[in-house]
Amino acid sequence: MSVRDLTILGCSSQQPTRLRNHGAYLLRWNQEGLLFDPGEGTQRQFIFADIAPPTVTRIFVSHFHGDHCLGLGSMLMRLNLDRINHPIHCYYPASGKVYFDRLRYGTIYHDHIQVIEHPVSEEGIVHQDENFTIEAKFLNHGVDNLGWRIQEADTTKFDKEKLAACGVKGTLVRELQEKKQVTVDGKMVKLEDLSWVRKGDIFSCVIDTKHCQNAIDLAKGAKLLLCESTYLEEHRALAEDHNHLTAKQAAFIAKKAGVQKLILTHFSARYRDLLPFVEEASEVFPNVDTADDFKRFEFLLSDMT
Ligand SMILES: [Zn+2]
Ligand SMILES: [Zn+2]
Repeated sequence: MSVRDLTILGCSSQQPTRLRNHGAYLLRWNQEGLLFDPGEGTQRQFIFADIAPPTVTRIFVSHFHGDHCLGLGSMLMRLNLDRINHPIHCYYPASGKVYFDRLRYGTIYHDHIQVIEHPVSEEGIVHQDENFTIEAKFLNHGVDNLGWRIQEADTTKFDKEKLAACGVKGTLVRELQEKKQVTVDGKMVKLEDLSWVRKGDIFSCVIDTKHCQNAIDLAKGAKLLLCESTYLEEHRALAEDHNHLTAKQAAFIAKKAGVQKLILTHFSARYRDLLPFVEEASEVFPNVDTADDFKRFEFLLSDMT
């Protein structure tokens, strides 16, 4: 089966610490490698995480504060050096185009890589194919800043026992899939009666924001929500001043959105120990964990009817 996991390449906020690099998150999902917010040093973090950079297929920059994008240029240069032959799709707030260009062309290099830019100026679906739908919404951070919702397409799965019971086998199975119905021994059988729909999984990324409805909307029903919690409640005033969330506020977003699991990240350098983040959030939303550099979270295929 394809790899499906979230690797934390960094989880610090504005300043990295000895233990936590600037944020960066790689979601490996079937054939895709989705890299969120490549902060400074992300290229090297891939090496420590033992993941080859060409795994990346899409890069998402939530906003152009340095801790979310200073590694963009070096990641693109690295992918260029690796002579990857697949395009890299880059999504970012359209108002930050000037910063994107500066980061991309900040040094001398021979440009071979195919970068397909998707500057986002309006909320809504920014990509859709037979596998995924990617949606962006603006968050509340004082600057243009996007949160992301990635939804896998629903798929039809055959019920093998029902197929056998109805005598549908061999080429009839494909015919049933294509025509939605087939005739077996003079009797018509329908696809919907012999199959079930596997609902696609949802991953949501909400990083750098105050509490806002869009954060909840992006996270609705997500299997995994990666959400910032720069501060603890004891520093709630700082969170308000700097347009960030506390662990408790992030937990409320997860609860209201009905997510399955919450992963907290983007921690202020003032905190050495991350356990209080879990303690604070779990009072509101129990299935919570903290990001940590090189930690991996499984994102296994769920079979839901
Ligand atoms: Zn930040
Ligand atoms: Zn920021």
